[in-house]
Amino acid sequence: MMHQTPLKIAVASGKGGTGKTTVATSLALSLAKNLTETVMFLDCDVEAPNAHLFLKPEFSDQKQVEVLIPRVNETLCTHCGKCTEVCQFQAIAVLGQRTLVFPQLCHGCGSCTMICPTNAIQENPKSIGILQKGKAEQIEFARGVMDIGEPMAVPIIRQLKKWVKSTPSQITIVDSPPGTACPVVESMRGSDFILLVTEPTPFGLHDLRLAHQVAKELNIPTGLIINRDNGEFKELDNYCKAENLPVFLRIPFQRTIAEGIANGHTLVDILPETILSFQEICQTIRNIVK
Ligand code: SF4
Ligand code: SF4
Repeated sequence: MMHQTPLKIAVASGKGGTGKTTVATSLALSLAKNLTETVMFLDCDVEAPNAHLFLKPEFSDQKQVEVLIPRVNETLCTHCGKCTEVCQFQAIAVLGQRTLVFPQLCHGCGSCTMICPTNAIQENPKSIGILQKGKAEQIEFARGVMDIGEPMAVPIIRQLKKWVKSTPSQITIVDSPPGTACPVVESMRGSDFILLVTEPTPFGLHDLRLAHQVAKELNIPTGLIINRDNGEFKELDNYCKAENLPVFLRIPFQRTIAEGIANGHTLVDILPETILSFQEICQTIRNIVK
């Protein structure tokens, strides 16, 4: 059996609801049909993970994600304010004769503990979410789930990526969160290729530009899949031409596809001919990143 070089593809879109998870799950299923390659699926959309609804994994392992939150011992604290100066997140403040920590703002970076001249700061672990892994038929599946009300997705995504390093796979598909903020950047980081997904509307194009800009800043090559394409929105094609952004696939705007996905079916269930398209996209990506 000939093994290819490991390949990591992040699937991203500037906004939610464009069909990013539809593409990511169907890409993974199509590649898993090629039994010479092992496929790992990482659901990094930790605020609202939903790839499990389509891939239906059975989880066999689970792990808590914790960050270390400072706690100030007032008997040792001199209220010098050094911790507040070093904190980038305004998560610790000296108010008169008290030093307060705001756990909802704290990123657990440890800078305040390191800088405190009187060792007045101790750190206590606080759970912010969980990691789960298991199998969805032949696909290795892992995801992070952020606790409700927690503001920090990045440490969960970072730990998820680290946690699965011990599970080798030829192809990793990363389902990134929507948007262009830090969690998206963290999930894209370390990928060989970013597969952007958009829809042919002014909003879709606006958010595609932002996501594409992030990919360019990370210096990672990109390609595009257009979802719900009706061939009418020429501005998107003009953008792709001007930016040299290759369009790998146009998923047609069809009621049967929308209904099937709403009922929990994958795109490759609904349009089996896309299996070959996704396998060819992967080969094209391999040729680009080579
Ligand atoms: S650096 Fe230490 S001593 Fe100074 S205010 Fe912060 S906790 Fe107190
Ligand atoms: S651990 Fe980092 S983020 Fe949290 S209060 Fe200290 S310096 Fe601020």
